[in-house]
Amino acid sequence: MTGRILDGRATAIASYDDIARGVSQFLEEHGRRPLLATVLVGDDPASHTYVSMKANRCADVGILSRRIELGADVTTDDLVAVISRLSRDDEVDGILLQHPVPGHVDERAAFEAIAPGKDVDGVTRTSFARMSFGEDGFSSATPGGIIALLDAHGVEVAGRHAVVVGRSAILGRPVGMMLLARHATVTFCHSRTVDLADHVSRADLVVAAVGRPELIRGEWIKPGAVVVDAGYNPGNIGDVDFEAARERASWITPVPGGVGPMTIATLLRQTLRAAVDHEEQRHQRRTGAALTDAVVG
Ligand code: NAP
Repeated sequence: MTGRILDGRATAIASYDDIARGVSQFLEEHGRRPLLATVLVGDDPASHTYVSMKANRCADVGILSRRIELGADVTTDDLVAVISRLSRDDEVDGILLQHPVPGHVDERAAFEAIAPGKDVDGVTRTSFARMSFGEDGFSSATPGGIIALLDAHGVEVAGRHAVVVGRSAILGRPVGMMLLARHATVTFCHSRTVDLADHVSRADLVVAAVGRPELIRGEWIKPGAVVVDAGYNPGNIGDVDFEAARERASWITPVPGGVGPMTIATLLRQTLRAAVDHEEQRHQRRTGAALTDAVVG
């Protein structure tokens, strides 16, 4: 068996077209464009590249972006203050804090300073809880992209055994909870898991989210399983030994061109949604105020 490709690049491009149409309609209705604020801490070249890529894709679909760059020595308090200001700024629809942040910064405190209504990267506790309950809300961008990629290719997860390797707050954990909300039976593996190969070999769906080149061996894959590789390591290498795994998988993501583009598509779609929600709330405030004026006299 040679696994078919879960083509994230093509799926994301189709998604960008759809988002661009939504942005045009939003502009027509509200006379403005959605705005994403990106916060970048320090001078990590990879983080700079990711933020630039996201800003470029924003521009492609007509979303405005505002980039805030802070020095690597920023304190948690100062970072929280910057994000809190963006949370209160009426011009800003979505906020993205590029992670990881330098080790001395309390990343969780910084994430929690993002107003839930602007959490378009899905990193707050509120978003995580909504994801876990399968409720409407912002999904963590990479997990949301993975689910959208599976949906776009008609891959059903209900009733299947999903093994998620990795349990980070922005990737492994939320993707597992989203799969659970879609009725998969989910096993989480991590650095203390004993006999990873045994767990992976029993999976109908494997999600690799570790950051170790080709940790998942091809011979571990159950014939016919679906393989999603979210890992991204230097040299364009994923967490799965792609060539060997493809020989056994029914579907598999390439690296690059699999999960990465879907992450950005999710971020943009959620920014548009935040802007729509934002305008709806404004409208409700205006009609509420008009009603109060009418009643009061
Ligand atoms: P992370 O925070 O470092 O988490 C890595 C996870 O892998 C942890 O849960 C860790 O377990 C687990 N792990 C480490 N060694 C392991 C081993 N030998 N066996 C099993 N599990 C092991 O990383 P992350 O932020 O989730 O990112 C993971 C990968 O995804 C990276 O390659 C990153 O570049 C990529 N990524 C891609 C996108 C995208 O858009 N494509 C977005 C985000 C991340 P413990 O919890 O026990 O430490």
